Amino acid sequence: RIEHMGLVPRMAADRYGDKTAFTFMDQETTFDELEKQSNRVANVLLDHGVQPGDRVGLFIPNTPQFPAAYFGTIKAGGVATPLNLRMDPETLGYVVQDAGIDVLVGSPYVAEEVQNLAEAAGVETLLLPGVSDEESGIVNYSHALEAADSEFDLVDREFGDIAAQPYTSGTTGKPKGVMLSHRNLLSTQESYDKSGLGIDPDDTLVLVLPMFHIYALNALMSTYVMTGAELNLQPQPEPDALLDAIDEHDATTFAGVPALYTQMFRVYRENPEEYDLSSLSYVVCAAAPLPEDTRQTIMREWDVPMVEGWGMTETSPAGTVEPVAGVSKEAGCVGPALPGIELKIVDPDTRETIVHADDVRPVPDESIDFADEEATTGELAIRGPQVFEGYYNKPDKTAAVKDDEGWFYTEDVARIDEDGYIWIVDRADDMIISGGENIYPAEVEDALYEHPEVAEAGVAAAPHEVKGEAPVAFVVLEEGADVTERELREFTLDHVATYAHPRRIFFVDELPRSATEKVQRYALEEMAEERLD
Ligand code: ATP
Ligand code: MG
Repeated sequence: RIEHMGLVPRMAADRYGDKTAFTFMDQETTFDELEKQSNRVANVLLDHGVQPGDRVGLFIPNTPQFPAAYFGTIKAGGVATPLNLRMDPETLGYVVQDAGIDVLVGSPYVAEEVQNLAEAAGVETLLLPGVSDEESGIVNYSHALEAADSEFDLVDREFGDIAAQPYTSGTTGKPKGVMLSHRNLLSTQESYDKSGLGIDPDDTLVLVLPMFHIYALNALMSTYVMTGAELNLQPQPEPDALLDAIDEHDATTFAGVPALYTQMFRVYRENPEEYDLSSLSYVVCAAAPLPEDTRQTIMREWDVPMVEGWGMTETSPAGTVEPVAGVSKEAGCVGPALPGIELKIVDPDTRETIVHADDVRPVPDESIDFADEEATTGELAIRGPQVFEGYYNKPDKTAAVKDDEGWFYTEDVARIDEDGYIWIVDRADDMIISGGENIYPAEVEDALYEHPEVAEAGVAAAPHEVKGEAPVAFVVLEEGADVTERELREFTLDHVATYAHPRRIFFVDELPRSATEKVQRYALEEMAEERLD
């Protein structure tokens, strides 16, 4: 057991040496090379004045440069602050200033964007391969790395010190800086390692989910490095290239988000015989509500189990995951708590316990009536070494979601079933109260996805003169579809309660999404207000 994240590549190098850690285009990086490169990065960062606890920005797509910079920062005692490449420049500028980033590491693939960002946010030092400009503080990173020593003595950090500060997706508002300690990150890797996913050194994962987000960063990249497994890095979510990569690298697993599976399937179904996906032993889906239709389609057409997981930036991102072998349920079911996680369902107003997971697993308490779904639904609360230390610069927000006993109140609504499996209902804040009835947008979206001509659906609250508010839907249709609003509204009547029936359904070309592809329901609310005016 190790207590410094900077030891992850060192341990992997000791055990797996010249085995391939990453493939990227036609390049291969071994575990030895990752260790040496991250040492070089650490030396360069110290040369540029990085002190223990300093936030170092990483603006890098999924290339081998990312893990080297990430582990290098942590080795040097810095706090790795990965930046979201898909975020709009204004929000990014906000994040860089919020984190107080003085040293930023950029990638040649996004050279122009990172230079603009560094200039706009007043970053002192930009480390950028192949470019140097003393006046604007740009250091030729490739030259600096070449000149640097490949040995490095780790800068001492305590187990509870902050190692990384990823930002949340910005689905419900401005992204929040989440302070994660060495303990948080390492205990999460342990949870995944001990979970039913059974990752081993023979595994290969096609990694397209961005490493600037906690799921790919810690649950996938670091966990796979620690395990000695191989990662094929994909910087772009190009469905065709991803399907090819699974085939070419004989990937044993793939991890995606719901929207990505939908896009990949659209390309796949044009030429199913072109791709051999038989090497896959399972695929994982997380991060946003998964429509049952998407799950069924992938499992049937690719002939592979799809397991769903739930997590948050604040839980590094350990939470729950369905076992690959054993009980697999419907979409929305994200499985039991990962090993090392304590979990309970509470009343969102009083925080009184409704059901504690320990009362369900391994033996369910007879007094709980699982058939009564409403009685086993509430806010999901999590406790364990994976739970974040706090939001950066937001002590009030931190105090509002964490209590003295270490519980973190997630603001997600969920249900626990008789197997101790969690069913994600929706975010508490997104609940629509219409004429006294509670409606979760995800349920209505699910109903819309059942329609064969619906490609994407997003539901949000709109003001209603009598009921206070009522659900309104936005739908992206499949190409060539010719369904009318009226037909679609009638269709949903068969699938949701009358009170949850969308008042209007608007057809749009695309849905507003956060930088990790999640539907921004607050943006839908604004759109609804404009259209209903
Ligand atoms: P922000 O906090 O900035 O609004 P965000 O909550 O989307 O953004 P993340 O930390 O990336 O930021 O995402 C965590 C959230 O993602 C969870 O709180 C939950 O609402 C959602 N989520 C994660 N996994 C699932 C899942 N399997 N099904 C439904 N929702 C999920
Ligand atoms: Mg959140």
